[in-house]
This record gives sequence, C-alpha cells and structure tokens, in this order.
Amino acid sequence: MTSTDARPVNVLLAEDEESFVDALVVGLGREGFHVTVARDGIEALRLFEESEPDLVLLDLMLPKMSGIDVCRAIRTHSNVPIIMVTAKSAEIDTVVGLEVGADDYVAKPYRLRELVARIRAVLRRGTTGAPSELAEERRGSEPEEGTREAGEVRVDLDRRRVFVRGEEVHLRRKEFELLALLVENAGRVLTRDILIDRIWGADYIGDTKTLDVHVKRLRSRIEEDPSHPLLITTVRGVGYRFDAAPVRR
Ligand code: CA
Repeated sequence: MTSTDARPVNVLLAEDEESFVDALVVGLGREGFHVTVARDGIEALRLFEESEPDLVLLDLMLPKMSGIDVCRAIRTHSNVPIIMVTAKSAEIDTVVGLEVGADDYVAKPYRLRELVARIRAVLRRGTTGAPSELAEERRGSEPEEGTREAGEVRVDLDRRRVFVRGEEVHLRRKEFELLALLVENAGRVLTRDILIDRIWGADYIGDTKTLDVHVKRLRSRIEEDPSHPLLITTVRGVGYRFDAAPVRR
C-alpha cells in the first residue's frame, strides 16, 4: 500500500425529520463524510442506486416505504453496511427480530459521537464486497473503477463484488485482486512474477507458493469443477491465464 485514497465515505441518510437531517448533514460532514439525503423510502432506494453509498443510515419510520422494507430491498442485491435508526430503543428488539439484514441499530435520541463511532465500527468490520474497504485501502496509483467482464465472470471494482454465472461469490481481498487482474487481462498469460508483484507488491518476501494457494482458493470459489479448472488455466512454468470462453466437454 503506497498511499491512502482521499475519497470521502459516502453516506446515504434516509430520514424525514428535518431537525435530524440538518444536524446529521453538518455533524457527519464535519467528520469527513459526504452525506446524501433521502426524505422517504422510495427516494432512498432511488438514491441508493444513483449514489452507490458506502453506508446507509436508515430511519425505521419513513414515508411511502418503511425502513424495514427499504433495508430488505437493498439486501436483495447489496451487502453495503446499513445502520437502522429507530425512534425508541424498545423498537430495536422488534426490528432485530425481523432479521431485515441491518448491520447495526441505533435508537433516537443518540449522540452524534456515538453514531459516528458505530458508523466507523461498521465500516471497519465491512463485508467482502463493501465499498468501504476499497475506499480505505484502495491503492492511490491505479485507476480502480468500473466493471470488468470476461465470459462468465463479472468483477465490479467500485463495489468490490464478483458475480460468476450470475451468482455473487464472496472473495477475500487478495483473491479479489487476483481475479480482477486476471479478468482484466483475459486471454493473456500473466507470469508468476507479474502476479506476485501486482498483488503482493515488489517488496514481497514470502513463499511463492502463496500465489498457488490463492489461485487454488479462487478456483474453489469460481470454477464449476475446481479439480478441472477451465476459467483459470495454469501455464506450466510461466504463470496463469484467465479464459473468457472456456471449452466445456
Ligand atoms: Ca421518521
């Protein structure tokens, strides 16, 4: 890691009470967050798609569509961190019981400091595929954005998500970086040296078996039959190649 990317963490705030909105926009802004505000549940879903936030702060009681339904809708296709805000602490038990998929819950009234601490904790915990991880640790020098697609594999660099044959697979950080690099260079052989250099850095001093271990794990997650890999091919003595159009027998 050479430098930390300065991209601010984008928070989508779904809240219909103006006093809370004003306080949070100012307070979270001061903490370095960029805040997008939605005043009702429908708008929250629309802005979620538009602004692709790193975290959602979701009020339980929203006009047009409840926070619970918004949370469920987001969870059908994203594991972005969500903090649910309830009017009373008593509501938390109910909401947690519904298992809507939020990462944390905060009851009104809350202190800004407490909320910020929760936000940072949730972002730190992250999930594979959470953009927050990327925002914190993305390398400064490389333009890592957009989507890379090759055959059956789609890699979403912005949101750090991977889809294989239409299904999302969850990868660890290095597995993700390795796959992204291979997919980006689909059809070309990448030498072991290049892969190790790009994924682990030129100053990597570990065993070169690390690369093979990661390739093996990656295959177990994306290949239909990991013992007969078709997507990631070993080029003996050289390196690996990603095949966008594997021949199935
Ligand atoms: Ca409300």
